[in-house]
Amino acid sequence: MAPTPYDHFRFVLVRTSHSGNIGSAARAIRTMGFDRLTLVAPNRFPDPEATALAAGADDVLANAVVVDDVVGGLAGTTFALGLSARRRGVNIPELDPREGAAQAIAAARRGEQVALVFGNERTGLENDELSRCHAMVRIPSVDDFSSLNLSQAVQVVAYEIRTALLAEQAQAAPVAEPAEVDPDEVPADAEQVERFFTHLGETLDDIEFHKGRSPTTIMLKLRKLFLRARPELRELRILHGILADAQRMADMAHKKGD
Ligand code: SAH
Repeated sequence: MAPTPYDHFRFVLVRTSHSGNIGSAARAIRTMGFDRLTLVAPNRFPDPEATALAAGADDVLANAVVVDDVVGGLAGTTFALGLSARRRGVNIPELDPREGAAQAIAAARRGEQVALVFGNERTGLENDELSRCHAMVRIPSVDDFSSLNLSQAVQVVAYEIRTALLAEQAQAAPVAEPAEVDPDEVPADAEQVERFFTHLGETLDDIEFHKGRSPTTIMLKLRKLFLRARPELRELRILHGILADAQRMADMAHKKGD
């Protein structure tokens, strides 16, 4: 089948407790034309409860990809929106669902794979998980009762994206598959960016940057900076080269000091 704009979106459910919600989410995305579901460390899956609530969206469940952590869930994507009812300790841009849908579609139009990331029913997305997203999307619910059921949050987002795609189609501005692009010149995907952060963290240790302070805050700030920059693979390669040189110098300095 010819690729459709809908193939550019992946719904990622993180540490879902209730299998029924997985089924309802599958139904929610299927009704809106999507079919890609990724499950990060689900409590139970496959499960009859999921199948029952999917109400026939069995193909979505059958093709669901199960991974261990959110980094695995984002693999192959270059743009991620994290859904959260509450503002977390992570200082990333906050969008409403409509703005989120517009940005997600803009990324898809550039040929990118987009992840829409949803948290656990009780605890939501951890800071660490949200910090891997380019922006947070908050559905504007009331302050004193802000948390929607997981699959209903999925429905709202899927609806917003579909509505925006339909409006585009009506204006005869379809999401075009991009022309041949140099793979070095597209934004690096989540795994490549993650490898860079690991290397950056190691290098900061090697050059004794933290001087006894906790690395957590600075790493979150650096993460935000680089996610905002959306580096290309070629640019990451240069940064890796710089880090490798810094590590080599630190190693030489240590040896001299011995
Ligand atoms: N107590 C949790 C709520 C979890 S609800 C918290 O405060 O984060 C399960 C998931 O549904 C959330 O992690 C989020 O991805 C989504 N969700 C629920 N209500 C939402 C809202 N108002 N805006 C954005 N996402 C929401």
